[in-house]
Amino acid sequence: MQQTCKNSWCGQAFEITDEDLKFYEKISPEFAGKKYPIPPPTLCPECREQRRLAHVNRSHLYRRTSDFSGKEIISIFSPEKKLKVYENEIWWSDQWDPLTYGHTADGTKPILPQIGKLFTEVPVMALFNEANENSPYVNTTGWAKNCYLCYGADYSEDCYYGEAVYHCRNTLDSHSCQRCEQCYECIDCNDCFSVLYGQNCNQCNDCFLIDNCIGCHDCFGCSGLRHKEYCYFNEECSAKDYQAKVNSHLPLTHLAIADAKAKWQVLKLQQPHKFCIGVKNENVSGNYLWQSKNAYLCFDSDDLEDCKYCTNMRTAKDCHDTNYWGHSGELLYENMAVGEGAIQVHFSNCVWGGTENMLYCAYCIGSKNCFGCSGLRHKQYCMLNKQYSKDDYERNVSLLIEQMRKTGEWGEFPPASLSVFAYGESLAQEFFPLTREEVLRRSWQWSDYEPPVLQVEKIIHPKDLPPSIDDIPDDILNWAIECEATKKPFKIIKQELDFYRNRRLPIPHFHPDERHRRRMALRNPRKLWNRTCASCQKPIATSYSSERPEIVYCEECYLKTMY
Ligand SMILES: [Zn+2]
Ligand SMILES: [Zn+2]
Repeated sequence: MQQTCKNSWCGQAFEITDEDLKFYEKISPEFAGKKYPIPPPTLCPECREQRRLAHVNRSHLYRRTSDFSGKEIISIFSPEKKLKVYENEIWWSDQWDPLTYGHTADGTKPILPQIGKLFTEVPVMALFNEANENSPYVNTTGWAKNCYLCYGADYSEDCYYGEAVYHCRNTLDSHSCQRCEQCYECIDCNDCFSVLYGQNCNQCNDCFLIDNCIGCHDCFGCSGLRHKEYCYFNEECSAKDYQAKVNSHLPLTHLAIADAKAKWQVLKLQQPHKFCIGVKNENVSGNYLWQSKNAYLCFDSDDLEDCKYCTNMRTAKDCHDTNYWGHSGELLYENMAVGEGAIQVHFSNCVWGGTENMLYCAYCIGSKNCFGCSGLRHKQYCMLNKQYSKDDYERNVSLLIEQMRKTGEWGEFPPASLSVFAYGESLAQEFFPLTREEVLRRSWQWSDYEPPVLQVEKIIHPKDLPPSIDDIPDDILNWAIECEATKKPFKIIKQELDFYRNRRLPIPHFHPDERHRRRMALRNPRKLWNRTCASCQKPIATSYSSERPEIVYCEECYLKTMY
């Protein structure tokens, strides 16, 4: 059936299929023997995603004081926020009890604002992290060691300025890489070692400026190669000649890199590109997908089965409209950051660790059968942070759902206006950028908070830095560099300086946020266009927009050409 997005500024038509209806039926909860059907969505898939992303701040870190101890802490919650922010050690301890914040819901008023209010009262953890070692400046990260300004970097070690740097080691400024080591400025690379400026590469080592290469080593400025060595701008040479050519670029300066990139860019456009990046997929649409089956409009995920409108998920089955996480997630609908064995969790945010049957919850771990709760660990039958018996819980939740059906809230993820984050600091701003005026016009939240300026000896403009790393003094660690694009000053840490010196790479001229933005701009957007395969003319749905100059092939034509 055709629906029209109910957001007045959108009004886009979208389709709800019979399979979608079956899915909503399948995940609808039952209380006291009665099923409470989840109605079909009223917003289009993009507006639903934007609404979810507005509830998460992934990479804006602030200094503030802990509302428990008064200590200075690093947090995703800016100091102006009227929330109880606890340092993670305290949050995870039993020095406070989330059930003391319990409310009895008023069943005659809209329910979501009551849940939203509770979420601003229950203490929150300063950063969404678990079990990291020596990594105070990371967020949405678990089991990582010695990482700095990384996000979603589970199981990474000695990584700096990366996002979803999954199981990587000593890798800097990289995005969505897996199991890479000693890499720099890599995007969507897997199992690479010592690759600098790589994109969409697998099992390559000791390469510089490569894209779409598999199993190559010692290649410079190459594109679309398979199992090659000593190639310089896609031309094979002897090991000796190769080394002499590469040495002619050293030490690398920004100018030398820009020159090489310009030549590489021309070469890239001559190579065919596969319509969708990823391998071992069956019946999928989207991009950056691996080992997935029956995934529709999904992005940046692996090991999905029967999923729709999901992004950044790993190992998930039967999930719709869920961004982030997975790690064995099943029957999930309309969630943000739900994982580690979560089953039947809907309309929730940051819920993990073997959770089941959770509705409208946030920041809950290992809990089951809860509704509208925040900050719970290993609890059952709680509603708005109040403990009930099983029967009372089911009766009370039924009453709330009845009320939500009347107000039109049932089946809707909480609106962006109830987010604890301002739109500009949320992930929504990255994927659906809006101006301050547009945000305020929609009655969403905006913040003009500016963190205090860095305390440094001096702030230096990039043009005043020596172009070669060989001439950079140790003193740079006491200075800040003014970002060439955004003017935002940033610092260099000892570990990265050592890395640049070792690789003879130049000091970055852009703030880490700007570097992230530029990497994201090199990836395809999370959107599909209809094109035809440049070889066989078969219709394809691809994230390469129709105007883009790349040669785009369907799977079959690509495999025929590239292997
Ligand atoms: Zn819409
Ligand atoms: Zn084709």
